[in-house]
Amino acid sequence: MHYDHILIRYGEMSLKGKNLKHFVAKLYENVRAKLHDYENIKIKRNRNRMYILLNGEEPQPILERCKDVFGIQSFSLAIKVENEEEQMKKAVQYALTHAKNTKTFKISTRRVDKDFPIDSQAMNRVLGGHVLSNTEGYKVDVHDPDVEINVEIRKDGTYITSEKILGAGGLPVGTTGKSLLLLSGGIDSPVAGYLSMKRGVEIEAIHFHSPPYTSERAKQKVLDLAKQLTRYGHKIKVHIVPFTKLQQTIHREIPEGYGMTVMRRVMLQVSERVAEERGILSFTTGESLGQVASQTMESMNTINEVTNYPIIRPLVSMDKLEIIDISKRIDMYDISIRPFEDCCTVFVPSAPKTRPTREKVLQYEERVDFTDEIAETVAGIETVEFEEKHTQEEDEFSDLL
Ligand code: ATP
Ligand code: MG
Repeated sequence: MHYDHILIRYGEMSLKGKNLKHFVAKLYENVRAKLHDYENIKIKRNRNRMYILLNGEEPQPILERCKDVFGIQSFSLAIKVENEEEQMKKAVQYALTHAKNTKTFKISTRRVDKDFPIDSQAMNRVLGGHVLSNTEGYKVDVHDPDVEINVEIRKDGTYITSEKILGAGGLPVGTTGKSLLLLSGGIDSPVAGYLSMKRGVEIEAIHFHSPPYTSERAKQKVLDLAKQLTRYGHKIKVHIVPFTKLQQTIHREIPEGYGMTVMRRVMLQVSERVAEERGILSFTTGESLGQVASQTMESMNTINEVTNYPIIRPLVSMDKLEIIDISKRIDMYDISIRPFEDCCTVFVPSAPKTRPTREKVLQYEERVDFTDEIAETVAGIETVEFEEKHTQEEDEFSDLL
C-alpha cells in the first residue's frame, strides 16, 4: 500500500454556484499546464474535488508545483481504495503510521455516497477501533490531535488522507478577466501582478523603456521578472514600449515639477491603446499610498483622470516591508534589486510636485500635442511572450537543495 493520489480541495470557488463549472474547468487547465511534463499522471475533477492519479510518479515534486496554482485551498496525498471496510482499515493504518511525529489522532469520515451502509460516526469508531487494537503507541484525541485522518467515501471509491498542505488560495488565473500590468523593474509592480493573479486575473504586462538612457540589461531585468511571473500564470505577454521620444518631449516642454505627473498620464494613455487593442479591461500597478511623490492622493487623482479604466492597486495599503516579504517569498526580490536604472528615474526631476493640481497639469499639457507621438510610440511596441516550461530533472535538482 502507498499514496497513489493527490487530492485537491477548491476553497472559495466552491461558493460560485452556476459559475463553478467554469472555475473548475479553468483550474483543471491550469493544473494540467503546471504538470505538463508528467505524462503518466491522470487528472480527474468533479464539483468538489480534483484528483491527480500518480501512476507511479514521485509525489513530492508534484506537490511542490501545486503550491503555486491559485484556486487550490489545500491538498493532500491520498490513498484510494474501494468502498469496502477491510481496505479502508488498512489504508487508515498506513496513513497513521506514515504520519510524522504523531502520537494522537482523530478520524473524520465523510460519507458522500449514501449507498454505503455505515454512517460517518459509526465508521469513525470502526476505523479508530481497528487502529487502536492493531498498532502500539497511538491515542485518540478528538480535540487537538497530532494528525487528523480524513476518510471520504465517494461513489467512485474512498480517499484516505492525512496531512493537509496549504495551497496558494485565491481563484484560478483566467476566471476573472484580464488586466494590463504596468511592470517596472522595481520591487512593487511584480508583487502587484502576483496579487492580481491571486484573484483570478490573467495578466499581460507593459513596460516603458527609454534607450539609450536605459540599458538593455534594465529591459532584460523586466523580462526576467515577467518570466518569473509565469510560475503563477503560465503564459505572459510583455509589451515593450519605446518611450524615449515621448520622455524627451515631456522633459523639454513641461515645467520640471510636473514632468513626472505628465509622464504618468502619458503612460496610461499609451496603456489604454494597448488594452483597447487586446480586449483588456483594467490596469494593475504597484502603487502604494504615500510611498513616493507620484503616490500621494493628489497625484493619483491627477494622473488617474486620463483614463476610465479601473486601476487595480493591490499594494495600495501595504507597508514596504510587507511588500518585500511577499517579493522574497515568490522569488522576485533578487531580480528586482539588480541595480539597473528605470526610465522614470532617468528623466524624473529631483523634486517632483507631490501635490499636483488638475488645473495646472491641463494648462501645461495644452502647450503640447502628444497625439502623433503617442500613435508613433504605440506603433513601435514590441511584444514578447513567455510560457512556463518545466523539466522533471529540475524537480530532482531542487529536491537536493
Ligand atoms: P515599482 O517598485 O513597481 O517600480 P515604485 O515604488 O518605483 O514601483 P513608481 O516609480 O511611482 O513606484 O511607479 C509606480 C507604478 O507605476 C509602478 O509600480 C508600476 O506599476 C508603474 N511603472 C513605473 N515605471 C514603469 C515603467 N517603466 N514601465 C511600466 N510601468 C511602470
Ligand atoms: Mg520603480
